[in-house]
Amino acid sequence: MKMDPLIYKVSLGRVVHYLESQGYEVKLNSNSFGFFEEDALITAPTKAHGTGSMIIGLLHEAGHTVQPRSQFNDMRKSIKRDKAIIIEQEYSAWVYGWTIAEELYINTPILEQAYKQSWLKYWTQYIEYIGKDWSKSDIHHLAESYIES
Ligand SMILES: [Zn+2]
Repeated sequence: MKMDPLIYKVSLGRVVHYLESQGYEVKLNSNSFGFFEEDALITAPTKAHGTGSMIIGLLHEAGHTVQPRSQFNDMRKSIKRDKAIIIEQEYSAWVYGWTIAEELYINTPILEQAYKQSWLKYWTQYIEYIGKDWSKSDIHHLAESYIES
């Protein structure tokens, strides 16, 4: 995605300001995107700087900060429940992330298209990893991180 540099700057500023106004510290020179609830910290990787993926990733993490708890939180622990929590919460963070883009009036068609591409790419990656790459204990630990938050 090729974003106009000025639109990029304004959009990034709004997302960062939004997160800071919610009490989060935003670090844009990290190794990866992340949301650390206990530390009230949101991170983005240095390499995403100057690209739309910086804004897209931050919107997704912002989605995690406002998403409702999982429908499956209170169900008996099982691998199926843990998988459902991960897939549900990852999907929901993308939904809420775009809602925030709309609230901030940065929801241009160019950003929307790129946002949805990332949504498809990263959400289906979780499904794939859950299906074959991750062990039961990896899945359990990841699911717990959504329950605690
Ligand atoms: Zn996520």
